[in-house]
Amino acid sequence: MIFAQVWRVLLVTAMFGGGTAVFVTGHFLAGAIIHMLIVGYLLAGTFNPSSRLFGPVQTRCKNGIWLTLDDGPDPVDTPAILDLLDRHDAKVTFFVIGEKAEKHPDLIREIHRRGHQIGNHTWSHPRASFWCLSPWSTRREIVKCQQVIEGIIGQAPKVFRAPVGHYNFFVHPVLKQEKLKLVGWSSRGFDGVASLPAEVLRRIRRTAGEGEIILAHEGTPIACEVIAGILAMAEENGCRFVIPDVSPE
Ligand SMILES: [Zn+2]
Repeated sequence: MIFAQVWRVLLVTAMFGGGTAVFVTGHFLAGAIIHMLIVGYLLAGTFNPSSRLFGPVQTRCKNGIWLTLDDGPDPVDTPAILDLLDRHDAKVTFFVIGEKAEKHPDLIREIHRRGHQIGNHTWSHPRASFWCLSPWSTRREIVKCQQVIEGIIGQAPKVFRAPVGHYNFFVHPVLKQEKLKLVGWSSRGFDGVASLPAEVLRRIRRTAGEGEIILAHEGTPIACEVIAGILAMAEENGCRFVIPDVSPE
């Protein structure tokens, strides 16, 4: 695994070195273009949650809607959401934060007992810095969350979501080692920043449908209303919720 990360660092360093060499030999424009291409590649791979530049990411599903709930477990929202999901006979994926899971193991057990999937959403959810962590810190964030969840329910997650969808090229080697698959999304209502459920649901309504992966959050003041709205919307449209088999190849 360490070699997969080392070669990535060497590759980018060599590309920068090549660009600099071209630059100093007097070919200023060619050198600048090479550097811009490398920076563009790194930015596109890092800040576009659907980018496949650094490795595979699942952004669509088959035979229904995949509802994914990030940032839990939450002592207030999770029990209420579980009851809501039961009432609609919907199974979803909870991408949980390791630190919170360790604090509320009973909620993790309950999510699992009710037939939902539990995904890895890092140990501490470093939303502003996950994309620029070192290879070692990246590994610690992912592996520690795996270990905590496995310690609680006896099985490690098979799916991973990066905080705010930003990740660097050190992530995929760790996912491969941990047999995790990166999951993105194709529909969201920005419920983490919006204050009105209707506004969030309007955005989701525009993009949600067969084959879409919906992103919503726990632990916001509007979490339960948003999730209730998504469940009602799917029911109106005759869509069912699915948890795809995402075993890594
Ligand atoms: Zn998150």
